[in-house]
Amino acid sequence: MRILILGGTTEASALAARLAGRPDFSPLLSMAGRTSDPRRAPIPTRIGGFGGVAGLAGFLREEGIEAVIDATHPFAAVMSQNAAEACAQTRVPLLALRRPAWTRRDGDRWTNVTSMEAAARALGDTPRRVFLTVGRLELAAFAAAPHHTYLVRSIEPIGDVLPVPNVMTIQDRAPFDEAAERALMERERIDVVVTKNSGGAATYPKIAAARSLGLPVIVVARPDKPPGVEEVASAEAALDWLERLHGRSP
Ligand code: NAP
Repeated sequence: MRILILGGTTEASALAARLAGRPDFSPLLSMAGRTSDPRRAPIPTRIGGFGGVAGLAGFLREEGIEAVIDATHPFAAVMSQNAAEACAQTRVPLLALRRPAWTRRDGDRWTNVTSMEAAARALGDTPRRVFLTVGRLELAAFAAAPHHTYLVRSIEPIGDVLPVPNVMTIQDRAPFDEAAERALMERERIDVVVTKNSGGAATYPKIAAARSLGLPVIVVARPDKPPGVEEVASAEAALDWLERLHGRSP
């Protein structure tokens, strides 16, 4: 069974690892190409956009894809929408593999917002030291709040996307460790953390560290995903779905 996995996440890599070497599946992992040094996958990989819904629909037909797993990041709203439309057009079964959102726990001091612009406004008028962990592509919104000092962590160099006077950068990628996150926040005298509600274990340590230090966290809610797409939360559940589908195919 020929499968397309839309990736760029830990969950996509986990599913790729489970499918590697299986004689009954022929998986292909697709990455957007945002990171210059993506983690190597144990299955065939392609990199780059498809060219919108029409491009993806054409790709599904040409490659004889029999099932698509949308394992993109919860904030990758365009790709998920395109996958839903292209799969509907081509009648290819689609499953979303998506980690659950984080939920507030006792001791968390969260402010929930629905956009990066709202997150920048929620920082307030008083200058603060901000640990900004929203990803390089989302930084521009914080140029509207140039009076804060930002510590930005991203996988790739941020270039000139955040033109404010006080910005420090760290290049690093998940998984992170709670003790190290706490030490970083203490050393940099962080007042507030800004994060997407990405979910998952790999980047959760910043949430736990902020809780233990009593720091406020501004949490940007996930964008809407296309309705009517079946969803599972783990690579194991996605594999079960694929095996059931394969069992039903002629
Ligand atoms: P997006 O806004 O939903 O997608 C923008 C365009 O990028 C899509 O229209 C598509 O181009 C291309 N694209 C996205 N994912 C792709 C994939 N897996 N394979 C091939 N093309 C893809 O996505 P994004 O938020 O920029 O995220 C890009 C990638 O980074 C995704 O793979 C996502 O899983 C990963 N990621 C995103 C975040 C985040 O916070 N957004 C965090 C971690 C990882 P075409 O229209 O030309 O097909």
